[in-house]
Amino acid sequence: MNSYKCVNCGVAASALYKTYGPSVLKLTKCESCKGVIDKYIEYDPVIVMIDLVLMSKEAQRHIIYNTEFKSYWKLFIILIMLETYGVWRNDSLFNIAINTVCNIKNNSTMNSTYITLPINISVPEPWMSDCKGWAYEEKESLDLFIWEKDFYIQFLSIFTVSLARVLKSFSLANMSLLFTLPMLVWGNSDTPPATRLLHYLMVFVYSFIFFYNTFRVLYESPKIVTAVVLTISYCIKYLTTFHMTPFIRKITR
Ligand SMILES: [Zn+2]
Repeated sequence: MNSYKCVNCGVAASALYKTYGPSVLKLTKCESCKGVIDKYIEYDPVIVMIDLVLMSKEAQRHIIYNTEFKSYWKLFIILIMLETYGVWRNDSLFNIAINTVCNIKNNSTMNSTYITLPINISVPEPWMSDCKGWAYEEKESLDLFIWEKDFYIQFLSIFTVSLARVLKSFSLANMSLLFTLPMLVWGNSDTPPATRLLHYLMVFVYSFIFFYNTFRVLYESPKIVTAVVLTISYCIKYLTTFHMTPFIRKITR
C-alpha cells in the first residue's frame, strides 16, 4: 500500500511514521531523498496554512496525498458560492471583462466596473445575444425574489462549469478566491475602476500560479504543458459561463 508520498521529492511511501509503544513515534525517512517523508504531520495546522498560502509544494503534497482532508467538498461549495457572489454582485474580473467587451454601462445600482480600452474590441455577431443576457435591468425595481433567483442561476452556471474540477486539489487551489473577499466586503461605488481591476487581476495571477503549482504536484506534467492546459481550461470556463448564464436565465424566466 503505497498511498502516501514524500513531500520533498514526491516518491511513493508506505507509511508516514512508525509507533514504538504507546507514546513513542518515529517519522519515516524517504528511501529516495533520505529526508523525512512528511514533516508536516508534526506541525501546527496554522503553519501548514501559511506554507500553503506561500505556495509550498511540500505543503500541497502533504494535504493532497498524506491527509484525509474529508471536508474538502464543503470547502468546495463555500468557494463556489463565493465566486458566485462576486459574479452575481457584478464584481469580479470576469464581470469587468464582460462589461468592457460587451459595452455594458447602464446598470448603475451594482458595482459595475467598465474599463475604457485604448483599442476597440468587438464581440462576434452571434455572441451579441449573450451579451444582452448579461446586461441586467435596473435591479432596484425588481422584487427581491427575482434578485435572489439570479444568485441561484449564477450558482448553477458556475457549478456546472466547475463539475469537472470536483477534486480536493481543486478546492485547495481555489482557496486563492478568498483574496477577493476584501474588495467584495469593503469595495463600494467610490472605489475607482482601476483599483478594482488591479485587485482582481492580482488575485487572478495569484490563483493562476497556485493552480499551476497544484497541477504540477498532482500530475507531474512538464511546465509548458501545464501552463497551456491551464490557460485553455480558464478560457473554456469563462466562455462557458458567458454563454451558459444568459441561457439558464432565459429558460427559468
Ligand atoms: Zn523523498
